[in-house]
Amino acid sequence: MVKSSVLIIEDDDDSRRAIARLFARADWKVLEAADGDAGIELAIRNRPEVILCDLLMPKSNGFQVCRTIREQLQPTKIIVVSGRDYAVDRASALEAGADEYLLKPITWEVLCDVIDRLLPIPRRPGATKSPEELGSVPPRLKLWGVRGSLPVPGPATVRYGGNTSCVEVRADGEIIVLDAGTGIRGLGLALEKELGPQTIKLTLLITHTHWDHIQGLPFFSPAYNPKNLIRILGYEGARAGLGTILAGQMETPFFPVRLRELPSHLAIEELKEMEFYIGKVKVQAKFANHPGICAGYRLFTSAGSIAYMPDTEPYEALKLQLARKDGIDVDEARNFAAAERDKMVEFLRDSDAAILDAQYTDEEYERHVGWGHSSLSSVVLLALDANVKRVLLFHHDPSHDDDMIDQMVEQARSMVSKSGKAMVIEGAREGVEIQL
Ligand SMILES: [Zn+2]
Ligand SMILES: [Zn+2]
Repeated sequence: MVKSSVLIIEDDDDSRRAIARLFARADWKVLEAADGDAGIELAIRNRPEVILCDLLMPKSNGFQVCRTIREQLQPTKIIVVSGRDYAVDRASALEAGADEYLLKPITWEVLCDVIDRLLPIPRRPGATKSPEELGSVPPRLKLWGVRGSLPVPGPATVRYGGNTSCVEVRADGEIIVLDAGTGIRGLGLALEKELGPQTIKLTLLITHTHWDHIQGLPFFSPAYNPKNLIRILGYEGARAGLGTILAGQMETPFFPVRLRELPSHLAIEELKEMEFYIGKVKVQAKFANHPGICAGYRLFTSAGSIAYMPDTEPYEALKLQLARKDGIDVDEARNFAAAERDKMVEFLRDSDAAILDAQYTDEEYERHVGWGHSSLSSVVLLALDANVKRVLLFHHDPSHDDDMIDQMVEQARSMVSKSGKAMVIEGAREGVEIQL
């Protein structure tokens, strides 16, 4: 069996060696570095499964190490080990790419727990898991499509990704998929690989039927296998029911296979309630400020809560524009907008992760009032007011390349740091997995 490997980056020789001995005793391959630069070099050369990294070190400090390693090694799990209990250090370390932040002194038991949680469950080649065993997959979310409106593959979008909205959530034994944009194709292939001959049982929650949220469904391979159980939930649209609209995009002029010809056990259910359960996961829904009928969802899992609000517009500018046009009292419009915003804050309140519409820069938004999407500042302020722990800026505009999204993320972070809060904020990036 191949040994797992760990890299310990720590300038204090005694504590580094003490931790190294513990890992060696548990049959790990151990690498050691006494400063940040040496650590980065060893990490890139050896690609260890786990890195333990001190914060205050000569040459590159722990934050720099995290950033550099995270850019180059996605699967490696980084655990920052620090003697300092500042919330801002913890937030900065997570933002720099650390998976966990532990306080010194650490015990072997705590380390083992954390590593068990971070590392994927070891799988023998060809081994598969029953649906019941899915509960043992560590609770997480994974981003399969982060783009709004239209898929935009190409060299300018390779870092954040070009696929339209699709997020996978694993928690409490459930597979919950949020939206079926083109990202769902990759998810389907991954599920088939993971579960092999086992039944794939999942629930797909649709926010609304704009094309960027359903267009991947005809290419979702698990829907073509009669062993699979797929439940699709969403609200009735403004002009037709959910089933009618999903079937519409698969009619003969558009696609060779009709929805009702799909061989899997596929059930489409229109939601009537704003609160319901998927297994043990409580779901709360809220209608968005978006053309037609569009909902956002909040999932309450035993490992934390996730809010997903991919398409929504702030109320104030829109209401004021309409007030001016229709001669409505401006104060009344402003009060209405503030009350609606309060409801959105309540919906997002204390989320562990919130995946939020951030389609436009503030400048672009001025030209797109009434298009149903958010500006960067509005979403950052909303999340700060709601005390969200981690924000993923989502539904990237198709015209925004990677550099543009980097700039928006930077701007968002400087707003957060001015607020003095420790909210983690990042641009949603295709392929990224977040442990809950
Ligand atoms: Zn959309
Ligand atoms: Zn939409």
